[in-house]
Amino acid sequence: MKLILNILSVILITFPFLQISAQNPDTLQTSSGKLLIKVVGHASIMFEYNQMIIHIDPYSRMGNYKLMPKADLILLTHHHQDHLDTAAIHLIHQNNTHYIVAPVCAEKASFKNPAVLISNGEKMLFKDIQIEAVPAYNILNKRESGVPYHPEGEGNGYILTFGDKRIYIAGDTEIIPEMNQLGKIDVAFLPMNLPYTMSPEMTAEAAKVIQPVILYPYHYSKTDLSILVGLLNDEKTIEVRIR
Ligand code: ZN
Ligand code: ZN
Repeated sequence: MKLILNILSVILITFPFLQISAQNPDTLQTSSGKLLIKVVGHASIMFEYNQMIIHIDPYSRMGNYKLMPKADLILLTHHHQDHLDTAAIHLIHQNNTHYIVAPVCAEKASFKNPAVLISNGEKMLFKDIQIEAVPAYNILNKRESGVPYHPEGEGNGYILTFGDKRIYIAGDTEIIPEMNQLGKIDVAFLPMNLPYTMSPEMTAEAAKVIQPVILYPYHYSKTDLSILVGLLNDEKTIEVRIR
């Protein structure tokens, strides 16, 4: 057994991408190359695109980041511990890792390389990938103090454009009016857990507004996914992917 494990770890060190393919990432063809979409779990996602590795909200409890490919870019939506986890970040850091984060993340943590801050409504380019920060906040769900779990303007969702494909990572948000103005979305990651983000009903409503070709519910904790699937049964143009 030990020998098998040793051989496995040699393979993983030699071929760092092997582990991802062994777990079946999804592949999306874009006009400028293949995009590999690896759902790590909860809010953690990894993209591989033109030899670049992008980690979003890496969280140690969701995967073994020691074994994952090092990051060219780490993108953080907000500062909550399930999104800003310095232990996971250190494991995927390398000399030339770039950090693009919501300003609140830089207030709460320091990074090994200078972080570029991006707020709601701002756009920037990373190589040939356009990164747009969009609002992510609660309207209904609030703490006992009356403050929303995610106050407007604090955290980001992101729209990443890879060639002709636009990927929306909603962050921790409820259904919000800004979702009407996202434009064409090919792939959407929508969060679903109460009280922090959305109920299955809200997530279904949001999906109907956004009309993604592919929907990944994420950040769903113990939420019953079958409710969402049932609510979207009649939306034949939306493929719901459970990962
Ligand atoms: Zn949060
Ligand atoms: Zn969260």
